[in-house]
Amino acid sequence: MTGMADPRKAGEETTTRARLDRGRSALGPALELVHTGRAPTRAVLTAELGVTRATAGAVAAELEALGLIRVDARPAAASGSQGRPSHRLEVAEDGPVALAAQIHADGFRAALVGLGGRIVATTPGCETVDADPAKVLGTVVEAGAELLRATGRRCVGAGLAVPSAVAEPDGLALNPLHLAWPVGEPVRRIFVECVRAAGITGPAFAGNDVNLAALAEHRHGAGRGARDLLCVATGHRGVGGALVLDGRLHTGSSGLALEVGHLTVNPEGRPCHCGSRGCLDVEADPLALLVEAGLDPGPEVSLLQQATDLLRTRYDEPAVRRAAETLIDRLGLGLAGLVNILNPDRIILGGLHRTLLEADPDRLCAVVAERSLWGGQSGGVPILPCTLDHDSLVGAAELAWQPVLDDPLGTLG
Ligand SMILES: [Zn+2]
Repeated sequence: MTGMADPRKAGEETTTRARLDRGRSALGPALELVHTGRAPTRAVLTAELGVTRATAGAVAAELEALGLIRVDARPAAASGSQGRPSHRLEVAEDGPVALAAQIHADGFRAALVGLGGRIVATTPGCETVDADPAKVLGTVVEAGAELLRATGRRCVGAGLAVPSAVAEPDGLALNPLHLAWPVGEPVRRIFVECVRAAGITGPAFAGNDVNLAALAEHRHGAGRGARDLLCVATGHRGVGGALVLDGRLHTGSSGLALEVGHLTVNPEGRPCHCGSRGCLDVEADPLALLVEAGLDPGPEVSLLQQATDLLRTRYDEPAVRRAAETLIDRLGLGLAGLVNILNPDRIILGGLHRTLLEADPDRLCAVVAERSLWGGQSGGVPILPCTLDHDSLVGAAELAWQPVLDDPLGTLG
C-alpha cells in the first residue's frame, strides 16, 4: 500500500468533490426555480432539485453569497402546510439588474429589471421614432444608463424588444412595419454598440416584442405551467404572436415563426403593409377599433391607450360595442385557425386583445369554439389575459438574465 493514498480518505475526497460539482451544476437550476417563484422555501428547492438537504443548503448559500437571492432563516409560517417549517428563499431586493429597452410605434421605454421579473425602475419616452435606428436606440440606452447611475445597481447585461421579426443569426429587423426604419437593419449590432458606448458591460441581446412578452408571461405571469403556450397580442400598432414550447420560445428556423398578424381574417378587408388584404394586423389592432367605432384618433396619447380607454369607459355605447364585437369576431377567427394548427394548452392575450377578452370573454370563446376543430371539446382551450405590466420589457431582461441563469458562478463569481 506504500505510496498510495488511504482509500477511505480518497473516497471521502471524491464524495466531497462530487458534492461540490453537483452543487455547482445545481446553481443554475436552483436560481431559475427561485427566479420563477417555484421554490419559495429551501424544502421545496431540495425536493425540486432532487438533492440532499445539505447540498440544497450549500447551493442556496452560494446564490446568496453572489448577491442573487436572500435566505430568510426565520422559517415560513407552517400553519396549514405539511411538514416542518423551512427557510424562505427570495430574490435579493438590492441584487443586480438587467437593462431592458423597448421600442414601439409611439416611442420607447427603458427599465431596470431584477430577478423574478421585478421592474426596479422605468422611464417612458413618447416621441416619433426616428427613421435611423441608431438614434432611437442611442436615446433609449442612454435613458437606461441614467437609471443605472441613479440606482447604483450592478448590471448583468441588456435586452431590447422591437416591434419587428428579428432574423437569426444576424439580428436583423426584417419587418418593422409600424416604424419608419429601413427593412433589414442590424438592430442587435446597433444595440450592442449603443450599450458599449454607454459604458455598460455584459452581453446585449435583441428580440421580437411579442416573443419576449410570451417568454416573460411563461416565467412570471399568465403562462406559468403551460406546456404549449400561444400568445397573441397587439402592440401600439399591429398584431404579433409567439409560441413557448416546454419553456422555450419556438422561433422557427431563422427567427421568423409565428407571424400571426398576417393571417387573413377578413378576405375583403383593408390592404395590409405585407401586400395582402384583411390581415389580423390591420383588422384587429388599436387603430382598427378606433376606426370601426367611427372615431378619429388623436395624437395626444398612444393608439393603444386610446383604444383601451374607449373599451373601458364607453363600452355601453352601441357604436363602441359593435366595433368591439367586430374585432372580437375577427380575433376569434384568427385564434381558431391557430388552435387547429398548433394545439396549444393555453392561449394568453396581450395589449388591446387582453381588453377585448375582458370586455366579452364569452363571445370570444364561443367564436373560437365554433370555428376550430378542437376548440369546443372538453371546455375548449383556456384563453387568459396577460398579467404582467410591461411584459415585453421583462422578456427583454430575461434575455440578459439567461447567461446568469445558465451559470451563476461563471458569470458573476
Ligand atoms: Zn398582412
